[in-house]
Amino acid sequence: MRKPKKIAVIGSGFGGLSAAIRLAAKGNDVTIYEKLDHWGGRAYQYTIDGFKFDGGPTVITAPHQYEELFQLAGKKKEDYMTLVPLDPFYRIFNEKNQHFDYWRDQHKTEKEIEKFSPGDVDGYRKFIKGIAAIFNWFHPFTERSFHSFGSFAKIFPHVIKTGTWRSMYGFAAKFVKNSFIRRVCSFHPLLIGGNPFDTPSIYGLIIQFEKEWGVHYGIGGTGAIVNGLGKLFLDCGGKIQFNTEVKEIIIKDKKACGVLLSNGTEINSDEVICNGDVAFAINNLIAPKNLPFQLKTWMNSMEYSNSLVVIYFGTKIAYEDSALQHHNLILSDKYKELMEDIFSKKELGKEMGLYLHMPSRTDKTISPEGCGSFYVLSLVPNLKGKTDWESMLPSYVEKVMMFLEDNYLPNLRSNVIAQHVVSPIDFHKRLNSHLGAAFSVKPSMMQSGFFRPQVKSGFFDNLYFVGAGVHPGAGVPAVMASGKIAANTIDGQEVIGVSGELKLAGVN
Ligand SMILES: Cc1cc2nc3c(=O)[nH]c(=O)nc-3n(C[C@H](O)[C@H](O)[C@H](O)COP(=O)(O)OP(=O)(O)OC[C@H]3O[C@@H](n4cnc5c(N)ncnc54)[C@H](O)[C@@H]3O)c2cc1C
Repeated sequence: MRKPKKIAVIGSGFGGLSAAIRLAAKGNDVTIYEKLDHWGGRAYQYTIDGFKFDGGPTVITAPHQYEELFQLAGKKKEDYMTLVPLDPFYRIFNEKNQHFDYWRDQHKTEKEIEKFSPGDVDGYRKFIKGIAAIFNWFHPFTERSFHSFGSFAKIFPHVIKTGTWRSMYGFAAKFVKNSFIRRVCSFHPLLIGGNPFDTPSIYGLIIQFEKEWGVHYGIGGTGAIVNGLGKLFLDCGGKIQFNTEVKEIIIKDKKACGVLLSNGTEINSDEVICNGDVAFAINNLIAPKNLPFQLKTWMNSMEYSNSLVVIYFGTKIAYEDSALQHHNLILSDKYKELMEDIFSKKELGKEMGLYLHMPSRTDKTISPEGCGSFYVLSLVPNLKGKTDWESMLPSYVEKVMMFLEDNYLPNLRSNVIAQHVVSPIDFHKRLNSHLGAAFSVKPSMMQSGFFRPQVKSGFFDNLYFVGAGVHPGAGVPAVMASGKIAANTIDGQEVIGVSGELKLAGVN
């Protein structure tokens, strides 16, 4: 049997936890160094006046990924967390406040299409067939790395065959005509920081992820899932140091051999796994003398995802009779203009794109009795734009809250009894995210697969990156997969390549 390794993990987001649990379950000596005072990163849960507000991810898919972690550790998931399925997955509102319920069951969704555009039902069926084909071809690659262009090039015939060179919006528009239904079929890239008008429809596999395995919610919020994973890690013998920022990844002879903490302590390790934002890490955690010019240039020439303003709020009434579901999206007919403002012009336009989370619809433990718990997320440009958030934030928050009050939650502002706001500056300063991007490297054609940073550093031995900025990308299932790739590579088990030509790392 292989000698246990000493492994330092920087950050306790979903990606870091996924890698750390796997490696600790195999008997390695794993310590996580986390800058914040609790687990989760973007999934950090704020507790304010009896309300529990999930900081980020709320749409939980692929529950088998959690099962896998518990199985590896020889534990039962049910002893650590409770996941419940949600249906409809989303309620999507248009500019007239009409809503579309997006169900797991295709027939029920077709009934919704019929309400808005009967002529699009047949096209929707073909769209879903196309999405299933994308999923079948490409989802195996979400748990593998692309270390050579040759292995990546082999997927191109499938890209042509499935039409995934088209943007997500272009792919939807090929099948359905109604402008609102096109929005309904193309919004998923927004969940991972992509512009539906230029994100390749290969990312449409997320739609099938949801259909295949359902959309779930953790009772007690995503924070309860994170706590469950944290406890699992500790039960596997892992160690965590909160309030501990890593200042530098120690590199000697192009090999990572530990971390330097901001309190000056040097920790030696056999392997380093960085779950902090990859762009931030390359720019800030590797000493300039060790940083290859081409690596720095490459990272800084990339495009980064949008940012977000997120307003978490608790209300003294439950708003049970509102039209809102657990997950709500508000996508107006100015969809294209909004995306241009955010992604191309990088400015705050008149339009807003909102996701409204109402967990108190499902879970009474999330807020004090009789109260409502919400967060509203508004898409905004990252810090490459020139918005002065220090001065703009209060008026922007007021604009969003007034919009919700006028359209969905009457008298909202006088009913709010707890509130917290996060802006692009928080993504930058609190979460160490390059340009305050909420989802790290943008998922474009030229920043996906082989063209995206890979889990195993190509420049330094014994260094791995896990999380939203590396392949396969942002979103909880993807970052969990990056954690799996890292752990398996360290174990010499990672499968690299494409079907028909699978090789074991370390053997090829
Ligand atoms: C508001 C919002 C809503 C979202 N909704 C969804 C959703 O519904 N479903 C979904 O699947 N995805 C969603 N996402 C995306 C998803 O949350 C992220 O892609 C994913 O959680 C990122 O995980 P990660 O592993 O990259 O780590 P992160 O969550 O980014 O965590 C990284 C951790 O590293 C720590 N760290 C950084 N630098 C250092 C350092 N130098 N020293 C020590 N610690 C450090 C940070 O403090 C942090 O805890 C959402 C994201 C946001 C922001």
